[in-house]
Amino acid sequence: MEYSETHDYDVAVVGSGTAGLVAGLRAAELGHSVAVLEKAPEERQGGHTRFSESFRVPSVGTDLEEYGYEFAVDDYTEEDFYDDIMHQTSGKADEALTTTLVENAGDTVEWLTAAGVDWQMEPLAVGYTAARTWFDGEEYVETLTAAAEDAGADFWFETQAAALHRAPTGEIDGIGARTPDGQVEFDVDAVILAAGDYGSNDEKRVRYYGPGYDEMNVLGSRYNTGEALMMAESAGANLVGQWGGAHMALIDAASPDVEGGANRVDGYQYGVILNDDGERFVDEGEDARAHTYAKFGRKIFEQPNHVATSFSTRRPTTWCGRPVRPTRFGPTTSRNCSRKSAVATPKPEPRRFERSTARVTPTSSNRTCWTATTRTAWRSKSRTGRFR
Ligand SMILES: Cc1cc2nc3c(=O)[nH]c(=O)nc-3n(C[C@H](O)[C@H](O)[C@H](O)COP(=O)(O)OP(=O)(O)OC[C@H]3O[C@@H](n4cnc5c(N)ncnc54)[C@H](O)[C@@H]3O)c2cc1C
Repeated sequence: MEYSETHDYDVAVVGSGTAGLVAGLRAAELGHSVAVLEKAPEERQGGHTRFSESFRVPSVGTDLEEYGYEFAVDDYTEEDFYDDIMHQTSGKADEALTTTLVENAGDTVEWLTAAGVDWQMEPLAVGYTAARTWFDGEEYVETLTAAAEDAGADFWFETQAAALHRAPTGEIDGIGARTPDGQVEFDVDAVILAAGDYGSNDEKRVRYYGPGYDEMNVLGSRYNTGEALMMAESAGANLVGQWGGAHMALIDAASPDVEGGANRVDGYQYGVILNDDGERFVDEGEDARAHTYAKFGRKIFEQPNHVATSFSTRRPTTWCGRPVRPTRFGPTTSRNCSRKSAVATPKPEPRRFERSTARVTPTSSNRTCWTATTRTAWRSKSRTGRFR
């Protein structure tokens, strides 16, 4: 491969979501010269981290007092965190990784706070069961980028890592990347791959999640297409982990094909969710919302037309004094649609639900949602394939 330029650094970090930013900042703090390669333009950097809003933290043993923060839940322990992960994953989570996570989450949040990240400590919506810090994803990315730059890291935007280079002795000693101005090479002592998942790659969703998953709308960043993982495999890495699993939240049926993360649907646990055949297929209240939303999207995707509708006597805007998160498409009400009629009518007439139903749709490696879109309107749109 011919390269138009070669740059020398100690460390190349691929990706500038939370993993890459933290790695780049820490490597620069330790005195290494660091290049952070980011495929997206600067204003779109940050991958799924741009869309994130909170971290679960064991509040027992995490001290943010000197920064003026107090946890809303002050008795959440590392053991609680560990148990929640194991419960959610039916005991399949990797034990060593889980232990590393729960034992280091507190220190990491303290370190992030010292690096300048701002938190809110009150839940943004109902349904959370653990101690958390809350943040604005875009601000979080900007803050850590500035901190890494202050520590000496260089950011290379619109620079897509494409190939790992091996020295004749076997170790990785460089990386080739595509930029708008041609192919560029970075000669380095170490490469840290932090380029996220493959959720925005249609072909890989079918390959790993299953047939039909190319029809799924995507909740996260359009830039997470998985080529860095394939690059590692080509260089000889073993691919391990749960490739067929994904965080599939409920998002609004009217969400865009990609980056629909702002349209997550909450509040479904106060009503019933029916598929297009009028059948109920989940227990909406089987657990706290925080423990169900990431898996109900997949259940909805497996229903006819990949869509479901959430019915409630009224859509709650608050619960126990806390807000229920609104979607970008506005609140929906159940003015014309009682819980009884919704349940008792297997194939409801479309017009009956006009302006009255909340809709739950799977989209993305995370998806499903509320929308004020009428059933009639949705059906015609679905025929165009626009709402998948
Ligand atoms: C909508 C949404 C909401 C979420 N909310 C939360 C939450 O509230 N709390 C929580 O803990 N988790 C949340 N998650 C999960 C969380 O966002 C991810 O676990 C986390 O962002 C992963 O961080 P990362 O740095 O590994 O990847 P990402 O943040 O996805 O960053 C990957 C980066 O790599 C770049 N990249 C990709 N390919 C290349 C390449 N070839 N060359 C160079 N750069 C490349 C991408 O552009 C991107 O900037 C959410 C996810 C989504 C989608």
